[in-house]
Amino acid sequence: MTATNFSELDLDERLINALRDKGYERPTAIQAEAIPPAMDGRDVLGSAPTGTGKTAAFLLPALQHLLDFPRKKSGPPRILILTPTRELAMQVAEQARELAAHTSLDIATITGGVAYMNHAEVFSENQDIVVATTGRLLQYIKEENFDCRAVETLILDEADRMLDMGFAQDIETISGETRWRNQTLLFSATLEGDAIRDFAERLLKEPVEIEADPSRRERKKILQWYYRVDDVKHKTALLCHLLKQPETLKSIVFVRKRERVHELVGWLREAGITACYLEGEMVQAKRTEAVKRMVEDRVNVLVATDIAARGLDINDISHVFNFDMPLTADTYLHRIGRTGRAGRKGTAISLVEAHDHLLLGKIGRYLNEPLKARVIDEFRPKTKAPSEKLAGKPSKKVLAKRQEVKKGSKEKVKVKVRQRDAKNVGKRRKPKIEAE
Ligand code: AMP
Repeated sequence: MTATNFSELDLDERLINALRDKGYERPTAIQAEAIPPAMDGRDVLGSAPTGTGKTAAFLLPALQHLLDFPRKKSGPPRILILTPTRELAMQVAEQARELAAHTSLDIATITGGVAYMNHAEVFSENQDIVVATTGRLLQYIKEENFDCRAVETLILDEADRMLDMGFAQDIETISGETRWRNQTLLFSATLEGDAIRDFAERLLKEPVEIEADPSRRERKKILQWYYRVDDVKHKTALLCHLLKQPETLKSIVFVRKRERVHELVGWLREAGITACYLEGEMVQAKRTEAVKRMVEDRVNVLVATDIAARGLDINDISHVFNFDMPLTADTYLHRIGRTGRAGRKGTAISLVEAHDHLLLGKIGRYLNEPLKARVIDEFRPKTKAPSEKLAGKPSKKVLAKRQEVKKGSKEKVKVKVRQRDAKNVGKRRKPKIEAE
């Protein structure tokens, strides 16, 4: 059973107090899952994008270990945390200091960009946790300014990024230098791909594998914007342009109706773009073949209706296009959730005709932030954007609701407000009757 409360995690009172100071009420998914095995001394292989609370997920067990087994006299670092960048090292150290605020544990950083001797305290005084970037740390190790033998736990943060940045060899060297350690924790935004798997295999011993459920947070990784278009022809030309951009690696283009699927695939073909498609009535074999072509990178554009795309699972979609706007905000979220999987970045682009502006407003309100408009010069729309007043004009349903509320308010219990009266009176002014 996963913990829903920090008190279930057997953490020291001093850490619980620090969590309270920070205003953390309950563990995040990755914390609830990673903290218990890490506290049992197991190696952990965690898949957790930034924003999931992964930092505290490895800091808390590390701090708890230091409190459980306090050392008798000062000495070199017992916990070593490696990060891909200086900025991240600073952030992790900052969080460690906050979580250790009620303890006397010492935390230091070793990073590039700081004069070498400024790190003097790291090897002259007591240190419990060191957060480091690999380059500068190796320099210290080589010059025997850093004693690796006391390291009990090695933690790798954002391991996938470290690999991307070419630090694999450095990390393996550091891993060799800290071979007396008892535990290794490795966190990575994604665990997909041979590189990270092989790497983890070499560094970890029988790890517990944990995956945070980042569905809600992942959404934040999806860049979203819209382009205004005049009509379907304009929209198609703009879509072709966007599909031909080098960063558009693999896309799903959503349309509302089945007929549109075939039409659009034809239009794209005319523009020299090969697309496969999914629509509800397709036989399974054809459907499987279309998905296979996408997965194997033989085709990189898929046109689909919402229904046909149900259950579709392709991992590396870079772009989702709303060729037809979805009718509900929920559908919008489903669609854009096809990109930005497994902690990758994703982009969701909506192509918006004048009559779609109400939907756009609805989606913006649902997401709690309006989608931003972009313009490409050669595809600048000729028609004007619907005025805000028009776009934001309340629907009949909303107006009816407003009337109901008015009817319900005390002063007006018996007064019937006609829509046209309310309308003439305007939004801000009080109706005459009410004023009287
Ligand atoms: P991270 O994924 O470690 O970068 O954390 C993302 C953000 O979530 C940071 O601002 C943390 O301070 C915050 N955070 C981490 N754990 C919790 C928690 N249990 N409750 C609330 N916020 C948290």
